Order: sequence, then structure tokens, then C-alpha cells
Amino acid sequence: MEIIVVGSGVIGLTTAIALQEAGHEVQIFTKDLPKDTVSAVAGAIWMPFHVEPVERVNHWSMVSYAIFEKMAADASNGVTMVDFLTLHAGSELPDWLGAVPIGRYRKAAVGELPPGYQHGFVTIVPMIETPIYLPFLQKKFMENGGKQTVCEVKNLAEVSTQVDFVVNCTGLAAGKLTGDKDVFPIRGQILKVENNLPGMAYLSDDDGPNALAYIFPRRDCTVLGGTAQVTNDDESPNEEDAVEILRRCSNLLPVLSTAVVKSVTVGLRPGRKTIRLEREPATNIIHNYGHGGGGYTVSWGCALEVVGLLGS
Ligand SMILES: Cc1cc2nc3c(=O)[nH]c(=O)nc-3n(C[C@H](O)[C@H](O)[C@H](O)COP(=O)(O)OP(=O)(O)OC[C@H]3O[C@@H](n4cnc5c(N)ncnc54)[C@H](O)[C@@H]3O)c2cc1C
Repeated sequence: MEIIVVGSGVIGLTTAIALQEAGHEVQIFTKDLPKDTVSAVAGAIWMPFHVEPVERVNHWSMVSYAIFEKMAADASNGVTMVDFLTLHAGSELPDWLGAVPIGRYRKAAVGELPPGYQHGFVTIVPMIETPIYLPFLQKKFMENGGKQTVCEVKNLAEVSTQVDFVVNCTGLAAGKLTGDKDVFPIRGQILKVENNLPGMAYLSDDDGPNALAYIFPRRDCTVLGGTAQVTNDDESPNEEDAVEILRRCSNLLPVLSTAVVKSVTVGLRPGRKTIRLEREPATNIIHNYGHGGGGYTVSWGCALEVVGLLGS
């Protein structure tokens, strides 16, 4: 079939490749190139965050985990498997552990926890370096025979007359494009600091005394986060947030108090009560948006479900 995917963030690119691999002819229509999307701002580690509904998200996350794990055999695509220490206020198992294969997580030993924490898990998860991964996806899409047009789609129904199916992967902009009032921004600010400090590790606190704090070392920098400000659509970096992020991350890893900041960036996560992944009744339009803070985590699972919906 001939298919147009609208959007070339991680969701659009992954969906386009999954469709090509299922034998379809795919074009991408996109307003921005991958490097200018929210996807380019992300951390990005495998971890469902501000994304629902739990059961479907766990299924999509599990599918993506398995694909990322295979991809990690080739370091050139920006995916690696890392030990990730998540810190928690209580001892109960987080929902997302249900998506992690048996044997890939354990309770953290007391000696592994920063001061002030009693609970944590060490989980082997995929870590995605976005400056390498997004160009890798884009190259793969083109090598598979894909075509990309830079344009702003104003009307999905109009575009849908040109092909067999249109897949809407426009992230936060889907709210305006489809009139969906359930879509909202979740503002995320991150700092990139120089990689000249010893003892870097993958750490996060989502619900404890330093929430929200996360530390993701990469080849070229270490990403420090963050914020998750619901309904805030301010895309400019904020000095107060930057100082707070550095303070909270330094509480987890004190060596970071001497970190040299290279850049401060903001992205608006595409929030929605639940991801919209469905075929719009009586149309040839499939929606795949609203992935909140977990777009990378669920990307392959959602993309393969889109492939399945073509026959629905
Ligand atoms: C600070 C931060 C940290 C994050 N960390 C993580 C993490 O660790 N793990 C994780 O899994 N996720 C993380 N996320 C979330 C993740 O980045 C998002 O869920 C994901 O990027 C959403 O991807 P998307 O492709 O739907 O949207 P986007 O990346 O926003 O892409 C949307 C695409 O649609 C195009 N578009 C929009 N409107 C139109 C139109 N009318 N016509 C044509 N094209 C259009 C845009 O140009 C763009 O190409 C993080 C996000 C932020 C901001």
C-alpha cells in the first residue's frame, strides 16, 4: 500500500520504518526535520514516564525493549544497554517493572543508594543517544526507499485522498491538527554538561526528595534533568529551573556540583490522558500521538501496532 506518515520525530520515523519493513511504500510529510523536533531534546532512556494507559504502555514498552536490545549489538546506532538506578520514596514495585524481562532488575543494595534514600532498583535498560539515533532512523528510512517532503499538513482528510493510508504522528501539534482537546504540553528542561567528571552513572528520582532528577551520561556530554511542568508551553530555557536541576542532580551525585554546563534546552512533551493509537472510524487515517514522556520507550511497540491496524 501507499502510505503517508505525517511527522518525523521518533514516532513518525519509527512508524515509517515499521511500515516499510512490512512491505509498504512510505512517504513522510513533516514540518520540521528530526533534529528540530521534541524527540531531539529527549534524555532518552527506556522508561515509561507521564504516559498512559499502564497496561498498553507496558506491552508497547516490552516490545520496544526487545527491539532496542537487539539494536544495542551495533554501537553505531546510538542504542546501548545500561545499568539504571531508579530511586523511590516507597518499597512497592513500580508499574513499569512489569515490562522488564525477568532477570534484568534487582533491588538496589543499601550501599548503592545516595544519602536520604531507602529504596531503589537497578534495571538493565536501553539508553538512546538521540543525536546518533535520529539520523540513524532517518538514513534507514531513506535507504528503504522512503521519500520525505518538508511541509505543514493543515488537513489530514485532504492528504488522505492521495494514498491508501495516512498515519498522524504529529506529537503535541496533533491537538490543533485534529481538534483533540485532550492533548497538552508537559514542559521538560534539560542541561548538557561536560563529560570530564569521574563516577558518572545512570540515576533518577521521579518521586523521592529530589524529584525530578535524572542523570544520563552519553558519549559527548551528560544529560541532567529535569522538569515535567504540566500544561506549561514555554519553550525558552529558564535560569531558575537550570539552577534547581543542577542542585537536585548534585544531591544524587555530589561530583556534579562542579559540572560545566554546555547547553540548556527545553522540549514540550506531547501529553495526553492516554496515547491515541487507533484508526479513525470510517476513514483511512490512523492516529499515533500523545506519547508524553515515553515516546522512545513505546516507539517500536506503537509502530508495530500501526502496521497491524492497516488490516482493521
Ligand atoms: C526533556 C525531555 C526528556 C525526555 N526523556 C525521555 C526519555 O528519557 N525516554 C522517553 O521514552 N521519552 C522521553 N521524552 C519524551 C519523548 O521525547 C516524546 O514522547 C517523543 O519525542 C514524542 O515524539 P513524537 O514523534 O510524537 O513528537 P515530536 O518529536 O514532537 O515530532 C512531531 C513531528 O510532527 C511534525 N509535525 C507537527 N505538526 C505537523 C503538521 N501539521 N504537518 C506536518 N508535520 C507536522 C513535526 O515537525 C515533527 O516532525 C522526553 C521528552 C523531553 C522533552
